[in-house]
Amino acid sequence: MALSRKLPAICGGFPTRKRFLPFHRPSLDRREERAVCAVLRSGWLTTGPKTHEFEDRIKNYLGARYVKAVNSCTAGLHLGLLCAEVGPGDEVITSPLTFASTGNVIQYQRARPVFADVDPDTGALDAAHVRRALTAKTKAVVPVHYAGIPADIAAIRRAVRGRPVRVVEDAAHAFGAADRGEKIGRNSYFAAYSFYATKNLTTGEGGAIATRSKSVAQRVECLRLHGLSHHAWKRYLDKNFKYRGLEVKELGYKYNCSDVQAALGCVQLEKYPRFLAARRRIAQWYDAAFRESEWVRPLTHPFSSTRRSAYHLYVVKLCLEKLKITRDQFVQALQKENIGASVHFKALHFHSWYRKRFGLPPGSCPAGEDLSSRVVSLPLYPDMRRSDVQDAAAAVQKLGCYFHRKR
Ligand SMILES: *Cc1c(COP(=O)(O)O)cnc(C)c1O
Repeated sequence: MALSRKLPAICGGFPTRKRFLPFHRPSLDRREERAVCAVLRSGWLTTGPKTHEFEDRIKNYLGARYVKAVNSCTAGLHLGLLCAEVGPGDEVITSPLTFASTGNVIQYQRARPVFADVDPDTGALDAAHVRRALTAKTKAVVPVHYAGIPADIAAIRRAVRGRPVRVVEDAAHAFGAADRGEKIGRNSYFAAYSFYATKNLTTGEGGAIATRSKSVAQRVECLRLHGLSHHAWKRYLDKNFKYRGLEVKELGYKYNCSDVQAALGCVQLEKYPRFLAARRRIAQWYDAAFRESEWVRPLTHPFSSTRRSAYHLYVVKLCLEKLKITRDQFVQALQKENIGASVHFKALHFHSWYRKRFGLPPGSCPAGEDLSSRVVSLPLYPDMRRSDVQDAAAAVQKLGCYFHRKR
């Protein structure tokens, strides 16, 4: 049998690699362990000095005016919508090519998610489609910096100019990405980052928000801890704190970040420039491996002095016209080749809750739906070796050759 027709493992052949290459592995070492142990020994576990240190460090890294740590990006996005005064009956425009939380938080506020289409090249919410989706009920737009590639926030701001519409950015993938020479979130009304286990920088679970508005920062400070007037650590750690009793100022949530998480985050942030450099190097190895591929087209990540990706995901678009299997079968076959793979994302309006609740027909976001049917995410994390990248690329090429649709 010719080399190009090697039998896939899913059909009984030998897998591309012997040992499974996981889709993700966090980069943690003794330094994170030591930092967490120090917090455990300090006697203060919840939001306190470490959280404040983490916030200051993020602020410096981003160059942002205000940063607040929270317990997830989902929590951050929810608070962003609260700050934007989104309420029952309002509409919030967002991308269909995103994770559940982006659409779900809109419904926490009893508002309606309105899906506008994305740019087929970057997967980011397209400002022209946002403009068309605007109505008198629109209260906010939630763009997603898909895969770490900056969405065109300036164009989205222009699209909503003159209207009482806020831009709340889902920057879960884009910590450290930059556009027009500024890091994402540096000059935002509101941007929420995720420090979930699989994200670029992790605290296990966690997140943060950046804002240029003092009043938004104060509101988040209050809302992230039950709507209380001051924080526990001030009451318990500061002997000069004048006890005035606690006051619930408005209905808040339990969205605060713990010092254990923050300790992890501080160490991760120190390493972060190296993480980004490693991610870029790995993406370049993949790009080189797929340059001539007939089966996949990788997404292009920008990297210039003014505009750069955070390289969160290495996404390839399958050339389904040339293949006789579906994307889901392709992912399954990759797993059998011992290559961890994933999908970001199945279009949100295709999920059963969204179908039942909003009943959007296929065709309502053609570019997002097309990407939804062909994207595959390959492993991308700092500790990968060049041979890991070569194995993942070889497995993709092997499957493409074998499942080639003959004319
Ligand atoms: C991971 C992710 C989130 C949610 O982040 P959490 O920190 O887990 O709440 C939101 N949006 C996108 C696009 C994500 O990938």
